[in-house]
Amino acid sequence: MKSMPLHVKIILGLILGVVYSFISSSLGWNEFTINWIDPFGKVFIRILKFIAVPLVLFSVISGVASLKDVSKLGRMGAKTLLLYLLTTVFAISVGLILVNVIQPGKFIEQDQRVKNRIAYELWVKSATGQGPKDNRNFLTDPQFKEQVEGALTPAELEEMKKKVNEQDARIADKLKSAQKTKESRPLDFLVDMIPENLAASLANNKLMLQVIFFAIFFGITMAFLPPKTASPALIVIDALNAVFLKMVEIVMAGAPFFVFCLLSGVIAKMANTPGEVFEIFKSLSSYSLTVLLGLGLMIFLIYPLIAKAIVKGMSYSRFFKNIAPAQFLAFSTSSSAATLPVTMECLEENMGVSKNVSSFVLPIGATVNMDGTSLYQAVAVVFLAQLHMVDLTLAQQLVIVMTATLSSIGAAAVPSAGLVMMIIVLQSVGLNPAWIAIVFPVDRILDMCRTVVNVTGDATVSTIIADSEGELNMPEQLHDYSHIKES
Ligand code: ASP
Repeated sequence: MKSMPLHVKIILGLILGVVYSFISSSLGWNEFTINWIDPFGKVFIRILKFIAVPLVLFSVISGVASLKDVSKLGRMGAKTLLLYLLTTVFAISVGLILVNVIQPGKFIEQDQRVKNRIAYELWVKSATGQGPKDNRNFLTDPQFKEQVEGALTPAELEEMKKKVNEQDARIADKLKSAQKTKESRPLDFLVDMIPENLAASLANNKLMLQVIFFAIFFGITMAFLPPKTASPALIVIDALNAVFLKMVEIVMAGAPFFVFCLLSGVIAKMANTPGEVFEIFKSLSSYSLTVLLGLGLMIFLIYPLIAKAIVKGMSYSRFFKNIAPAQFLAFSTSSSAATLPVTMECLEENMGVSKNVSSFVLPIGATVNMDGTSLYQAVAVVFLAQLHMVDLTLAQQLVIVMTATLSSIGAAAVPSAGLVMMIIVLQSVGLNPAWIAIVFPVDRILDMCRTVVNVTGDATVSTIIADSEGELNMPEQLHDYSHIKES
């Protein structure tokens, strides 16, 4: 057991979590699981989150201050943003191709889709005062009369007209927070990156970009000072950085147990019995499978093959062995921010990415690069349109590419952030934002999977950048977590 690699132990934790959930829900222990097991999962996420901010702060400062040539930072920054943008657009395109070829929305019964279409038309009319953008009108066009009559009775139609603006309580707050984001001005993102008050930025996990900005500025300023003046501060910062890294190592030793608790808790909260979980997925199976296929292609084909093609000496299996602990953690926590400390550790210790690169590229990636989220948004929006018999034109799908890119950049690295930001993508092509309620039931599981893609994307890009900067030196052996040794 002791010599077993960490990722294998984490897989065991995951499997045991699922097996336990089956047993516990059939014996009616869900309450017990939520009261006594789930809190340990929360403890784990909290520890990782409180480590993330100081770790980013100290590692970015120490990475930037120790750069021999500050202009390298500009080059690395440009490459980082370009690659992040390219991978995101690529992921969205994969999602769009899959959803247009598979057409998961059409797997749903025709009558249901006609009803959805009518509800959509009623909504468009009340929201915009105009007819649907695709110029089909089921409610007034005699061509569709038969379909409408076959799908619902006049009484049902009246009922629908009354209900048109009723909102699902579960999503009301999500609509509000997306509205706020939508109302922002074009350069707000730049203003938002600059801390107003450092203590406030450090206190809020969602303000990670402000911490990164401060740390880069601090590091550059140190590099301008004479070494005699700056080096005492650098020694302290390096030492603090080492302490936080050690903390990651210590909590990771308990990761298999914590992952077990997290998974048991998620399943217990989702449904009373495993049968219910299957039921939830059944009605949305075509959609879920399309998202999972896209995410799977990114994880198992695209990223490893890109890394293998670009990085000399990289093999398919080594790629996964290097980053597996971060991937499993992303899956169990559904948060790239909580996973960040482990992603940094994996990349530095196993992949051999230099600290200069990892401390700069990964924290930015955790906040702005979400390939999985953007792929999922593209699939979900087109699926929802298909479900309501709305045809999206090529131009509208290009709008999806743009808005899904922006909204994945804007999404916070926490659970369900992608679902909230999807509201903006839906609105950009004239669809009803309240439809997020339809995909809501399966969101948590898909969130776990898309977070794995988000983290794998960050890891791949930082490996490529390290390689291109001559800052990649992959060790022969994987890092050994089995004992917390002095290093
Ligand atoms: N949970 C995702 C992350 O942290 C974001 C999302 O897609 O909801 O990366």
